[in-house]
Amino acid sequence: MTIESTNKKQAIMTGCRTSAAKPNPFISVNIHLTRVCNFGCKFCFHGASMGVAKRPDVPLLKKTINILAAAGCRKLNFSGGEPSLFLAELLTLIRHAKQQGIPIVSVISNGSKLTPAWLREAAPALDILGLSLHSADASTCETMGFRPKHGKGAAYDVAAHARELAAACKAMGIAVKVNTVITSANQGEQMAALVEELGASRWKAFEMLPLEGERAAEATTLVPTRADFEDFISRQGSPVLIPETNEVMRDSYVIIDEGGRFIDSSGNRKVVASPRIVDVGIQEAFEAVCFDQTAFIMRDGLYTKTASAFSLKRHSALD
Ligand code: SF4
Repeated sequence: MTIESTNKKQAIMTGCRTSAAKPNPFISVNIHLTRVCNFGCKFCFHGASMGVAKRPDVPLLKKTINILAAAGCRKLNFSGGEPSLFLAELLTLIRHAKQQGIPIVSVISNGSKLTPAWLREAAPALDILGLSLHSADASTCETMGFRPKHGKGAAYDVAAHARELAAACKAMGIAVKVNTVITSANQGEQMAALVEELGASRWKAFEMLPLEGERAAEATTLVPTRADFEDFISRQGSPVLIPETNEVMRDSYVIIDEGGRFIDSSGNRKVVASPRIVDVGIQEAFEAVCFDQTAFIMRDGLYTKTASAFSLKRHSALD
């Protein structure tokens, strides 16, 4: 997908709820398991600013997942913050989602807390591991804060760990995806070879999105120009690269927080917008958020274009 095609949607948008009831907005949902993270990315747009550190409420989230499954959810992604800070809870919820019949269950993680042993346990229920990989260069990682805040810190080799995890995923039939946020610091990098080495089926490149109240809003020197972003995309030459501009990203994701409530980011800041889904039902809770269905389709939120690439296992339900 090109930047031009992702931008076409802006011309046909008529508001935050385009095209009435199609497709089912709950087909692809993200649960932000926590806002806490062990990394210190200055461009982070979903950090600890909005919430307090607490363990995921597994019974609550299980009930929320049950409701999502009944509402037709076909892809459930666990992210954060860093979901692997709560490995036991994450494993329980991944397994529960799969038991509820959700065809694609995925995790987005910086990978630092994941191990091949944990992946082996998760493999029967985990379809995709999305690795946040924003640079392979140590000094660029330092500039962006993309490294552990404690412990190994700057000595942590994100690319080496990603290679180890990707090899484990390959051995266990878990598909690999890569997420990269493009900033002014990494926009000159050539990352396609590393992404290919990792065997990624899908590579999302996000234009850095500064949201009010989030860390990224303060990291003004890291905001890339649109030309920087387009230049990064055009130089990679990767067949699995999917660019995502701010406009596409802002309100085309259905996001649920650690409290089982919908999050709205359409107003340039992330707010917990709804009551708990378990209390009022999914339809009433969803009334509180802005969702751009056109942008959702344009960014291939349905995975129609890349479903075949995820054919390692269990993905036929999306064809
Ligand atoms: S890895 Fe970086 S961008 Fe991702 S949640 Fe942690 S601090 Fe934010």
